[in-house]
Amino acid sequence: AVVSIKSALAGAHAIGSEVTVRGWVRTRRDSKAGLSFVNLSDGSCFDPIQIVAPNTLPNYDSEVLRLSAGCGVIATGTVVESQGKGQSFEIQASTIEVTGFVDDPETYPIQPKPHSMEFLREVAHLRPRTNIFGAITRVRHCLAQAVHRFFHENGYYWINTPIITTSDAEGAGQMFRVSTLDLANLPRTDKGAIDHSKDFFGKEAFLTVSGQLNVEAYCLALSKVYTFGPTFRAENSQTSRHLAEFWMIEPEIAFADLAADADLAEALLKYVFKAVLEERGDDMAFFAERVEKTAITRLESFINAPFARIDYSEAVKILQNSGKSFEFPVEWGMDLQTEHERYLVEQHVGRPAVVMNYPEHIKAFYMRLNDDGKTVAAMDILAPGIGEIVGGSQREERLDLLDARMAKMGIDPVHYQWYRDLRRYGTVPHAGFGLGFERLVVYTCGLANIRDAIPYPRVPGHAEF
Ligand code: ATP
Ligand code: MG
Ligand code: MG
Ligand code: MG
Repeated sequence: AVVSIKSALAGAHAIGSEVTVRGWVRTRRDSKAGLSFVNLSDGSCFDPIQIVAPNTLPNYDSEVLRLSAGCGVIATGTVVESQGKGQSFEIQASTIEVTGFVDDPETYPIQPKPHSMEFLREVAHLRPRTNIFGAITRVRHCLAQAVHRFFHENGYYWINTPIITTSDAEGAGQMFRVSTLDLANLPRTDKGAIDHSKDFFGKEAFLTVSGQLNVEAYCLALSKVYTFGPTFRAENSQTSRHLAEFWMIEPEIAFADLAADADLAEALLKYVFKAVLEERGDDMAFFAERVEKTAITRLESFINAPFARIDYSEAVKILQNSGKSFEFPVEWGMDLQTEHERYLVEQHVGRPAVVMNYPEHIKAFYMRLNDDGKTVAAMDILAPGIGEIVGGSQREERLDLLDARMAKMGIDPVHYQWYRDLRRYGTVPHAGFGLGFERLVVYTCGLANIRDAIPYPRVPGHAEF
């Protein structure tokens, strides 16, 4: 029977039974006694399995002795107890079929030695064959599954919001334009300007920067919903925590305020970290050993500590009294920068924190105005080691106040009639947040750069593979 290496290593197949495993060679070692030991990996678990190939195999000299890292192999043999330490079972091969050799093993990019993350980004199509990208991929999968499970168990529906949109969500000014047009044949007005009325969608369209506005409409009918999909921002700065294409988890809850919103985010984060520790112990042990010493312990403390809750105004005072000289000096009214966020959680609070009630003028038009008239019911969740991982708010459900904010921010309500309808037809208080999925992966694995948290990173200057 064809079995996964995971099940073979876990002892799911009786000693003496015949199994077939299939995968890619990690290493080959030959003994003087006429045996070769081939470590084979199929991605089903962290460890490879050892295939013991005797020189009595008909293709031993012609093929087995040519196996090198990366070769594709189908091996059949008997399950035996392993003599080597660290491994419980191995396979005594009766046949080894090589489906593909590696051309020129000396120049094969993935050698059995540590490679720098920078180098591996240049071979994004081969990096999944390394230990670290195998582990990241499995953890990413586990996190995504846990996200869906959490929402399903709590009565939320998954809504697929559009990727192409004509709304610019927050007037973010960082969008990618979608066009079907051949640049050489752009329709022009008589004045020579691009005539967008001839665009495929009738007006200028963009890749979405957030599914929130769309998911709000479903929230105001189905009560508990979330969207989880790709999001695009033409971030022009090169940072270790921004991608041009990333995935975002955006729940929206009806009849909820900011406190309920923060509670939901806290419960979600704890749930998914718990799932990773339970289900991906092998990969997490690798991260703790090779990538970030505290990879496991910090998730454990994340799960166990209640998040701190701090008012933005209080956070500003803490930062001002910190005696630290920041690159950007702190004053009330400014958005907090990564250096401030990290100082707050790492030096001051010592655990994740929800910062709430930001100044109105730095936040999006849809956030609910507080009674003080100066702040909105917005929150960011900050994690030690990374800073912001969640941004959320209670939404402005009162039409007059929404209109006033849009006017103040110079947003033309003409583009938001459908969104205004939600306030005209049975409005209710509601709240939601956005959690950047890759920031979650970065944090979980202890990675230094978000480009390693997604299979094919898109950043300024890079969209190949
Ligand atoms: P930042 O301040 O880090 O630029 P933001 O405030 O612009 O983030 P939001 O609009 O609040 O981000 O989006 C919600 C979440 O999406 C953020 O908390 C973060 O986790 C994630 N996120 C935002 N921009 C990016 C990006 N360019 N790449 C990856 N994740 C992102
Ligand atoms: Mg941003
Ligand atoms: Mg921010
Ligand atoms: Mg934010």
